[in-house]
Amino acid sequence: MTLWSLPFIAGGTLYATARADLAFWVSSGFLVSGLIFGPDLDLYSFHYKRWGKLRWLWKPYQKAIKHRSIWSHGPIIGTVGRIFYLGLWVGLVGLFYLGIAQLAGARTYTGQQLIEIVKHSIESNFPVYLATFCGLELGAMSHYSSDWFVSTYKRSPLRNLFAASSNPRTSSKLKKSPVKQTRRSRSK
Ligand SMILES: [Zn+2]
Repeated sequence: MTLWSLPFIAGGTLYATARADLAFWVSSGFLVSGLIFGPDLDLYSFHYKRWGKLRWLWKPYQKAIKHRSIWSHGPIIGTVGRIFYLGLWVGLVGLFYLGIAQLAGARTYTGQQLIEIVKHSIESNFPVYLATFCGLELGAMSHYSSDWFVSTYKRSPLRNLFAASSNPRTSSKLKKSPVKQTRRSRSK
């Protein structure tokens, strides 16, 4: 899904902004969101597993947030929340290394200087940051909409139609569903 829509995202941005670098950042954000930084980090999912050895980073996130709650699956809120959450970890690791460096007697940046550096970077590259955020948000949106389609489909009468077809994948998925039961009772 992510890979299929990528050319449209890249083409759309290029058309809208006429800047190849921004198209690149939007696409990157979209890809990252679709592969490892998506809303389903709030449960044991492909996104979660792709973090490999670092997956435990998302454990507290999963504990704190109910699957598909507004905090992970709400437009804008979800993406902002994940950026903020990851930012906390990055900050924590950064502080840890800064502490070590200071203990070792190295000259390091002060907190104030670090904040200035980040602020300056955001100010001078604002379009890039915004483009990346838009990409992340677009990726999340495509996830929300597919979540929505799946749950709507599950509740819709269309499902009976598909279940009645002889697709083995669909029928195995529907093993415990009421749809299958009605099929069974009909065939008796
Ligand atoms: Zn989801």
